[in-house]
Amino acid sequence: MKAIKYLTFGLAFLLLTGILSSFLKTENKIDFVYPDGNSKALIMSYDDGTVDDVRLTRLFDENKIIGTFNLNSGLLGTTQVWPQKNADTLVYKYLPKDSLPAIYKNHEIAAHSLTHKDFKNLSDKEILQEVETDIANLNKLTKRKIRSLAYPFGNSSAHIAQLISKTGLTNARIVGDTYTFNLPDTFLLWRPTCHDSKALGLLNSYLSLKSNKLTVFLVWGHSWEFKDAKRWNDFNKFCREAGNRKDIWYVGCGEFIEYQLTLKNLKIKDGVVANPKGNKEVWFKQDGLIKVLKPGNRMEAHINQVTK
Ligand SMILES: [Zn+2]
Repeated sequence: MKAIKYLTFGLAFLLLTGILSSFLKTENKIDFVYPDGNSKALIMSYDDGTVDDVRLTRLFDENKIIGTFNLNSGLLGTTQVWPQKNADTLVYKYLPKDSLPAIYKNHEIAAHSLTHKDFKNLSDKEILQEVETDIANLNKLTKRKIRSLAYPFGNSSAHIAQLISKTGLTNARIVGDTYTFNLPDTFLLWRPTCHDSKALGLLNSYLSLKSNKLTVFLVWGHSWEFKDAKRWNDFNKFCREAGNRKDIWYVGCGEFIEYQLTLKNLKIKDGVVANPKGNKEVWFKQDGLIKVLKPGNRMEAHINQVTK
């Protein structure tokens, strides 16, 4: 009888301490968020810099969407004929050099190499020349720091990414759609969520996603593909539905990766999060409130989500 009493008492004690410790743990629980307080982000990455970008940037502006435009500075102001595999020929008209600051006023300008050669056929020296000259030209034309790249034809490799890491760029996009909203594992071999022709099909699952984890929907494409009226109409629908929302961070690749790097620089150990001096501000959500951890500050916290 006595033994049963002790057992009941023991069980009640264990239950109580369990509840208490879980209560204490939840008290300091935080979720990192993007600088606007959201945990969802939309990025539109568009290549080549042809005149069709004028119409596309207008559509983005109407819907408060931000694009990253990857440009071949050596082709600006020219007309090029690109033979296609199906024996068709595409004629591209590239934007004039002096039009970039006006057309991409609200958008990121990024590199796409000087002349759009396939990096798989180039030497290391030639690859660096194609990228570094493109960065220098775009910087001169726009007075902006160039932080992002889309590989021509989407072709890259671990070796090429290693080369690109020497150029000061923080991120570079390849092809190979993931159809997920996960954060990138490797910023210099960044696989997008999907091509814009598939984006409308994935939109509802992103809009209805309920998660405290940081996610990103990265769409890529070319504005010259929108010569097809049906494609353009579908894409208008996507932008109208995906844009102008309060729960999505609209951002370019460069700014997005800068925040990812800021999160990576945090020192997280034994329930303490420290934001080192020289790092940027980090935003988090605690008990439904959005708060900031400034550089040089630290706090006691248990992180709900895993950051990469
Ligand atoms: Zn291209």
